[in-house]
Amino acid sequence: MKIGVLALQGAFIEHCQMLERLGVQSYQVRLPQQLQGLDGLIIPGGESTTIGKLAQDYNFIEPLRAFGATKAIWGTCAGAILLSKDAHRDQPLLRLMDITIVRNAFGRQVDSFEIALEMPCLSQNGSQAPPFHAVFIRAPIIETVSADARVLARLADGRIVAAQQKHFLATSFHPELTQDDRLHRYFLRMVEDAQKTHEQRGAVLVINKENS
Ligand code: GLN
Repeated sequence: MKIGVLALQGAFIEHCQMLERLGVQSYQVRLPQQLQGLDGLIIPGGESTTIGKLAQDYNFIEPLRAFGATKAIWGTCAGAILLSKDAHRDQPLLRLMDITIVRNAFGRQVDSFEIALEMPCLSQNGSQAPPFHAVFIRAPIIETVSADARVLARLADGRIVAAQQKHFLATSFHPELTQDDRLHRYFLRMVEDAQKTHEQRGAVLVINKENS
């Protein structure tokens, strides 16, 4: 499995290191043609305006949308903002997920904080998963989740900090800055699921063509 990490700006190296620890080949993606042959992509945290503008300058926006038509993408923090359809500011977005975002939602006093976050999606074989150690750095909040997007985690006050829509994953926090690899493994399963779905769709198209 080959996973790319968008390496225009931000915390991409930490994602690559986590993937390598999991025995997965990771690729730093700096040009649109480097998306070819990848099975999934992570858009890291950083500064969403900068990543978006660089993506525009390097003609990445449409290739990233095309990639997302069949392949899994995970956005962490600034990456989650880029996946959203609206961040209430004038900035380039991929608009691949039916989520809206409020940037820097925690104000200056609590620029950064760490909490134990309940994530039922990480439980396996029916047993409850231990909480995820979530690191928030000038983090956004997922304000609304619509269409077939669903909430994966909320803060104690109900605010949404993780969501999934088909093969897209958005987290407000930074799992790559911890030793906890469960969300990376969760994403790798999403990559495999997207591959299977796509292969099945391809097979159905071939069958339909043969029968027509
Ligand atoms: N505050 C940044 C933004 O709005 C996101 C911060 C991060 O990715 N850690 O783009």
